[in-house]
Amino acid sequence: MSNVFYRSRKTYPVATRAEGVYLFDDTGKRYLDGSSGALVANIGQGRAAVADAMAAQARHLAFVHGSQFSSDILEEYAARLAAFLGLAPFRFWAVSGGSEATESAIKLARQYHAERGETGRYRVITRRPSYHGASLGALAASGMGARRELYTPLMNEAAWPKLAKPDPELSGEVDAERLRALLEELGPDTVAAFMCEPVVGASDAALAPNPGYHARIAEICREFGVLFIADEVMCGMGRCGTPLAVRLRDDVTPDIVVLGKGLAAGYAPLAGLMASPAVHDTVMNGSGAFKHGFTYAGHPVSVAAGLSVLKIVEDEKLVEAANERGAQLLVGLQALKEKYPQVLEARGHGLLLGLVLGDPATGQAFETPGLADRVAAAARARGLITYPGSGAVDGVRGDHLLLGPPLSITAAECEELLAGLDGALAETQS
Ligand code: PLP
Repeated sequence: MSNVFYRSRKTYPVATRAEGVYLFDDTGKRYLDGSSGALVANIGQGRAAVADAMAAQARHLAFVHGSQFSSDILEEYAARLAAFLGLAPFRFWAVSGGSEATESAIKLARQYHAERGETGRYRVITRRPSYHGASLGALAASGMGARRELYTPLMNEAAWPKLAKPDPELSGEVDAERLRALLEELGPDTVAAFMCEPVVGASDAALAPNPGYHARIAEICREFGVLFIADEVMCGMGRCGTPLAVRLRDDVTPDIVVLGKGLAAGYAPLAGLMASPAVHDTVMNGSGAFKHGFTYAGHPVSVAAGLSVLKIVEDEKLVEAANERGAQLLVGLQALKEKYPQVLEARGHGLLLGLVLGDPATGQAFETPGLADRVAAAARARGLITYPGSGAVDGVRGDHLLLGPPLSITAAECEELLAGLDGALAETQS
């Protein structure tokens, strides 16, 4: 009997340690972490430099409250992070997790308009499918039926309109024009922001819109006075082979960029947002304070972890490595698509990669989803961790598998990952 409240009634292995891309459980079994947990452990585990930086910070300055102090470590980190992202004048608002970060972005967008006297702007347009977090605002913003439907009585649906997912058949510009149509339908002066994942993660296996999409989205947002929020919690921080995923294909600068997961790469809870000078200054020159805050925001030990992780990403050129290893893995995944007809599509950018699974007979999703979960279970039995998505996403059935090992993975470890997946796909072939 355990006193742990597990996430579900399935049986969980008990992890006892981790090193590099490998996790070990209490039976001594080794797992290759093919998904960095949930796309978090970007630099691999067991890094003494990060542990030392955190311990030193805890001794030096463990906590300050954001209503009373900034901290030297936060000042240094915000500057380095902005430079890394190519967002030098942006301001970093630190929080502890991705959901807190998207909630912060939503509230900041609302306050930005209120400061300018446009109090009628409250809607936040997002896409279906999408995932922006588990807290109620972030969940309302998410286009993910299965995780959302129990809580819809707690949501004002008028506030959360949804745009269709990117359509790879359309040019990026034409695809993005659908936002203009939705804005005109809603009345643009009711809309505060448009938020999307530049490369979609948990809800749609590394789907990215075509070139031109984000640039046109930014233009439309500007034209209608709507803020453009890029949710890079999963796809940012080098995961897609570029510091800022929204710039993967277009030269574009959103008004707000939301970050999490890879920021401290799992060593500590750290997330946040980068706000443009215009957004920041509108609040500071208006009422003078962002009406929002969390007790643990900017926790010095988390920030110390983030700074140490960022140094490693830069020193070891892990953004470039994500491109190299990502290209290697994509070739391997495409070979698996040729080999296994239940793999309908293999795609990805850098080390955010996905397999779309379905019925070889129809080329569509299975009537009863579940294959991704079965493949993930078979892979886990073989010592490979993946991140499956099985089920109905806002009424759309589907199975997919996200893959995203630490950016520090070696070429040989990539081959091991592919071999594990090959075995799992063979075993679950019907
Ligand atoms: N936004 C995106 C794009 C995510 O993928 C996630 C988590 O998967 C979140 C927000 C929420 O982050 P967290 O689980 O850290 O609250």
